[in-house]
Amino acid sequence: MSRSDLFALFNKDFTMTQQTQDWLTDRQTYVARGVSNAHPVVIARAENARVWDIAGREYIDFVGGIGVLNVGHNHPRVVAAIQAQVEHFLHPCFQVVLYPGYIELCRRLCARAPIHGAVKGALFSTGAEATENAVKMARSHTGRSAVISLTHSFHGRTLMGMSLTGKASTYKQNFGPFAPEVYHTAAPYPYRGVSAEQALERLDELLLTTVNAEQVAAIIVEPVLGEGGFLPLPTAFLRGLRERCTRHGMVLIADEIQSGVGRTGTFFAIEHSGVEPDLLLVAKSLGGGLPISAVIGKADIIDAPAPGGLGGTYAGNPLACAAANAVLDLFDEGELLPQAVTLGEQLRAELDKLAAKFPQIGEVRGLGPMLAMELVENPLTKRPASTLTQRVVEEARKRGLLLLKAGLHANVIRILVPLTATPGDIREGLCRLEAALETAVESEQVMG
Ligand code: PMP
Repeated sequence: MSRSDLFALFNKDFTMTQQTQDWLTDRQTYVARGVSNAHPVVIARAENARVWDIAGREYIDFVGGIGVLNVGHNHPRVVAAIQAQVEHFLHPCFQVVLYPGYIELCRRLCARAPIHGAVKGALFSTGAEATENAVKMARSHTGRSAVISLTHSFHGRTLMGMSLTGKASTYKQNFGPFAPEVYHTAAPYPYRGVSAEQALERLDELLLTTVNAEQVAAIIVEPVLGEGGFLPLPTAFLRGLRERCTRHGMVLIADEIQSGVGRTGTFFAIEHSGVEPDLLLVAKSLGGGLPISAVIGKADIIDAPAPGGLGGTYAGNPLACAAANAVLDLFDEGELLPQAVTLGEQLRAELDKLAAKFPQIGEVRGLGPMLAMELVENPLTKRPASTLTQRVVEEARKRGLLLLKAGLHANVIRILVPLTATPGDIREGLCRLEAALETAVESEQVMG
């Protein structure tokens, strides 16, 4: 019997911890450091809003695979749909032969798009691919090259996604040169002094000083900036964008990769504003855990590229289509969105209570259940409390709660808990969050 087997007999936890450490060592040795891990947790199993590590430790998951699991880990209906599809075919490739799941998914997404007139779509695999293809469509439709995005934004890790992204560290680091003809304008950030009106003025200035509106193919925005720290775009700003896009013939692209599929209590976050985009990007929670993305929008823009100009070998993979159609079935049943609204109200009330207790919570913000809290060293100076935020994340993990940061200064804690989480998951998760905040604030004070 080996030494570790002996320990296994007497101390299950020790052995399992050693096993975790071994995986972490192998990860250090064989996996690129550029791919980071928010938590040194190696998991064995997951269900709805809970995951279990290989040592059998249970965690409440407030991250949901970074907004991928609005219907929870391993939703039984999603798993069943994937299993059923496995029996038929895995990958004939839509560019070779057609299959119903792909067409069905486009039809259903078109029906859900808050856009008037003829709407069409195309499927891809990742969010970044959706970004890339939306830009291709907008350029092809307008015959123009420039694209405008927002500071604090995130649109993916490919060349165009990275170029559009409005956060230099660490997404852009020394990865240049970036794609040309990409311009950034200020995102509204009322907490830090940039109102919707000011942001529109900055855009107008950009169009006068730097790039002529007649050269701009598209403006791309996240209706709620995700990686940027859950900054909801004010309705006045979205209306201002719509008005300028219509006036100058620019395509308005709503990147709903993180904010879509029910995350804010409506199917698409932009529905809260009543503003119609021209193109919508969907990914993440669409596939319930499988990689699939879509660009949905006005038929004349979607159809601008000639046959062969769009696609990808794995784009709209049948398993992912089956999973996505199962996710849409769940939304069609009608309970998920009201549940999301209620969850949003509960979370907001509880986070507001925490903000009243901890002056380090500078702002609780978001839309529906897409909520975050920005931590500051002092509510008057609003200096970002990046170290404290990291400490809260670590203390939460020790208590069995997985959290994820966001924001330019990594001082925002965002909540992307499955919309299907039970009241018990939410209650327990918030208790652990409060305890983590208490310990983290105390230890900061001792250190300070
Ligand atoms: N856009 C937004 C708003 C996102 O949140 C993300 C992913 N965090 C992406 C694009 C890129 O998606 P992917 O990682 O699937 O390429």
